[in-house]
Amino acid sequence: MSHFMTTQAQDSQERALTSLEAHLRYEAFFGTRSVSVSRAKEVASDSESLIKASEIDPAGGLGVIEEEASRCTQCALHQTRNRVVFGVGHPNARLVLVGEAPGRHEDMQGEPFVGQAGALLTRMLARMGLTREEVYICNVLKCRPPKNRDPLPEEKISCSPFLRRQIEVIAPELILALGAHAARTLLGLEPTVSLGSLRGKTYDWEGTSLLATYHPAYLLRSPEMRWKAMDDLSLACDFLGIDIVERKNR
Ligand code: SF4
Repeated sequence: MSHFMTTQAQDSQERALTSLEAHLRYEAFFGTRSVSVSRAKEVASDSESLIKASEIDPAGGLGVIEEEASRCTQCALHQTRNRVVFGVGHPNARLVLVGEAPGRHEDMQGEPFVGQAGALLTRMLARMGLTREEVYICNVLKCRPPKNRDPLPEEKISCSPFLRRQIEVIAPELILALGAHAARTLLGLEPTVSLGSLRGKTYDWEGTSLLATYHPAYLLRSPEMRWKAMDDLSLACDFLGIDIVERKNR
């Protein structure tokens, strides 16, 4: 009996370690620099959920698209970029956040939403009870426009297939567009449409629901708008069926 229990415990431990190893490989594949310990524990204690994720294997599909993007010369931005900024996060994320384009820090590091705006986005996610590793973060454009100018229409047209394919592979339940550029591009709207007029409503992006909120860089410049952004995050939490962490502290 005791031998049987020992064998069972060993099997269970081996399964947990195999699951944890696979999870870490996922994270490493997408350039994650740190892994949430609580999330890793969840994975280790729930090997079934990881096995299902592995069977779907969206990581493989994203890898193919990222490899194509890394060699892309479809628009003039390839001449001035340092690095293609494809996207980071979980390949099975329920929530995909889409910004406008990489900035200087992103262009240097090859990761979206780093620097001050990225730190604010991380805090916004924390208020939703989420980590960067649990969502997927990317931009409409994968290369930085010089001097952070607005994306040109032809650049958005050239780059949109990458974004479209990313979202199709991840198949999230919700897209959160960060800023007017991302929202207008995804919804095919005129440049005169304001973000304020888009907030608070759920849109359809080819069968996936979409909400819009302010870009973190804008919120850094206009901190008085952060409470409106919190309303948008609250709406996203309601949609996903999760509790916003600091709703009561407002
Ligand atoms: S911005 Fe997009 S379309 Fe233009 S070169 Fe970069 S990856 Fe290609």
